[in-house]
Amino acid sequence: MATDVKSLTSNEFNDWCPGCGDSGIVLAVKNAIVKANLDPHKTVIVSGIGCSSKLPHLVNVNGVHTLHGRPIPFAEGIKLANPELTVLLDSGDGDTYGIGVGHFISAGRRNTDIKLFIHDNGVYSLTKGQASPTLPEGRKTKSLPAPNINGALSPLSLAIMSGYNFVARAQSFKVNELADIMVKAIQHKGLALVDIMQGCPTYNPEFTSAPWFNTHLKPLPQDYDGYVKDPSNKEEVNEKKLNAIKMLLSEDPDNMHTGIFFQNEDPDTFESRLQARKIPSPVSQKIADESGNPLTDIEPLLKSLEV
Ligand code: SF4
Repeated sequence: MATDVKSLTSNEFNDWCPGCGDSGIVLAVKNAIVKANLDPHKTVIVSGIGCSSKLPHLVNVNGVHTLHGRPIPFAEGIKLANPELTVLLDSGDGDTYGIGVGHFISAGRRNTDIKLFIHDNGVYSLTKGQASPTLPEGRKTKSLPAPNINGALSPLSLAIMSGYNFVARAQSFKVNELADIMVKAIQHKGLALVDIMQGCPTYNPEFTSAPWFNTHLKPLPQDYDGYVKDPSNKEEVNEKKLNAIKMLLSEDPDNMHTGIFFQNEDPDTFESRLQARKIPSPVSQKIADESGNPLTDIEPLLKSLEV
């Protein structure tokens, strides 16, 4: 079982810039693993490509640093191969909402029990700060010759409409709050998204500093309730989705909220659908006898391929 944050800290070199919000996020991930009492041997962190995607190297659990835009199918495959694992995914806004947006949408249709912690700083920071899909129109970051000409994607609205059942926003400099939301995402059965407003002091310092976040990000109103009490009640589910979308539409890039916008503990996960079809997970299938000899005879297959 997880013991403490120190035991989860790897010896790998952290080459993030001084003051980078990724350092707060990695601390929150470790805190969340401890708070959720996860066994490090049964925990996997998957990432794509980008500054954020270096995170699996810094946490002493299993880690896979995959291809640009492809961490979601990797994470889904790992979870389906061994449902006993807790699968966390740390990647960036460019990686997930840009390069991998098709996978981001399709993940909602499946509702596999994986947790997406997306580091959202509005730029492709590893490649010197080009505009990512979440950079608002009119904002100029260090690398752009002129203010951004494109409108911004709303990843939370897209997630809700794609079928995500846990959709939240947090920020990188409030580590305890972030860790608490991560724990709730981990405890939620099914696909979860935590969009993390992340500080990038190198390429987007003006709009991602701690003082800027403290002024422009506010907790959801106390009377806001995004929790579905009865997942079988379609009317309630739709009403809560609609309320979340309305709340997101009421925001502007200078006034946004943190907290859980929508949560529906719908038991209809991809894993439950596979179980209903009686398809066992690969890890539960016997592949060798007591002496370790394989139970599968591949000779007929090899013979069929002979030329
Ligand atoms: Fe962090 Fe930005 Fe530096 Fe990347 S470029 S390590 S996101 S501060």
